[in-house]
Amino acid sequence: MGTTRMMVLLNILLLLWFQQWVQASTSVIQMATEGEIQLKINAKGDADTVIHAAFNTTIVYERLAYMTDTFGPRFSGTPALESALDWIKVQAQTDGLSVKEQPVMIPVWVRGREYANLISPRRKSMHVLGLGGSVGTNGQIVQAKVLVVSSFDDLERQKDNVKGKIVVYNVEFVSYSKTVVYRVNGASKAQQYGAVAALVRSISPFGLQTPHTGSSEPTTIPAMAITLEDAQMFARMQARGQEVEIELYMEAHTLPDAQSRNLILEIEGTHFPSEYVIVGGHTDSWDIADGAMDDGGGAFVAWEALRLIKSSGLHPDRTVRAILYVNEENGARGGQQYAHDYSDTLSKTSIALESDVGTFTPDGISFLGSTKAQSILEYMGHQLLGGIGSGNVSGEGIGEDISYMCVTGVPCGNLNVLDPRVGTESNNPCAPYSQPPYPLLTEDEFPRDGYFWYHHTEADTIDKLSPEQLQHAAATLGVWIYSIANLPTLLPR
Ligand SMILES: [Zn+2]
Repeated sequence: MGTTRMMVLLNILLLLWFQQWVQASTSVIQMATEGEIQLKINAKGDADTVIHAAFNTTIVYERLAYMTDTFGPRFSGTPALESALDWIKVQAQTDGLSVKEQPVMIPVWVRGREYANLISPRRKSMHVLGLGGSVGTNGQIVQAKVLVVSSFDDLERQKDNVKGKIVVYNVEFVSYSKTVVYRVNGASKAQQYGAVAALVRSISPFGLQTPHTGSSEPTTIPAMAITLEDAQMFARMQARGQEVEIELYMEAHTLPDAQSRNLILEIEGTHFPSEYVIVGGHTDSWDIADGAMDDGGGAFVAWEALRLIKSSGLHPDRTVRAILYVNEENGARGGQQYAHDYSDTLSKTSIALESDVGTFTPDGISFLGSTKAQSILEYMGHQLLGGIGSGNVSGEGIGEDISYMCVTGVPCGNLNVLDPRVGTESNNPCAPYSQPPYPLLTEDEFPRDGYFWYHHTEADTIDKLSPEQLQHAAATLGVWIYSIANLPTLLPR
């Protein structure tokens, strides 16, 4: 062998060794910068087990359909809510989950009979829903001329013209968080200037003469939701100088608080039983809504996430809890009570996740916490859920129930979903796995509008959801909570 050939061979060997060294050191660097944490050796296999278990059964859809069909609306203070909670408790126990009942005192608001009629320039029966927490009309019919305003600034400009009128807020839906202030604060602001009632255009981007209820800050004047169609018609009438007059009647009233409960479903951790990973949704709905989307689906996919872990024979290192909060809709007492009663566990809670923006095809989670924790979640999501398109971490939107934990520093997140009604493709989750072709959404776009077509209406029924979407949401939450529970440490604050 000549010297030149040996030199060439040596050079090639050196080059190969150098390339391997570069590759090895790059992958170490990638681990350190992307996730800064070592996943368990079987983490991917366990995640796939949960995913396949989820898509193998339609139990979560069947249970949700049964509950919404059988018990109907689950408003705080009603026997239907308590019956539904009894039923969930028994079912979860048959899944082998531990179930704790945490007492919660909840407000009791009663709608009673209610109506509103346009009486000038023509007579028309309106589709209306009193806003939660509103007072009634003391057995009287309130009849008055209408002042339509398009914003709080507009109300301010016309404040000298408010006294004795029914104020109609005709505000176009921008996003839920931006527009809902008119439902929450509209009546109290109108009352300050002497209005006799407030009517709020439903907080929705789309209408089929459907009123959407929701909470309103308590005031001394009655408050109702009206339809998009009526609100816009009153604005047109006012603009052309027609005098609009309405009569309305409400029996709404508030009773003393009653006792209800959060249900805490649990699998105890094998290594760190007093450290927690939390997922959840709320069991209550508005009095007129079956609450399949808001938030039966959210509560049930949280429950299903635990059932999948249990039925797959997996044992999380930390304790995983599905908290089914009560009274999110008109008081959020369930979320407050959990944060209060379990305050000593919050510093040992790795993350609190919630699903309360619909259970359509999931895209990932939002996250509110440290940058370091976010980079760990991004790494995990990519590794474990990238295959079914729901491993993204984007946005900071946080649900009401977990917000009381988040303010104490618990890392928090919401399940983010994409609504098929507004043009996202259907998924074929088990094979072949593919990356999501859709762009990441900003916080304001979560969830895409379809959820708010039905939110807080009689049309929030099970037919708006599909078994596949619920399976996908449960698989996603199951993988997130199981893998977070098995990290070497709590998520860094
Ligand atoms: Zn909700």
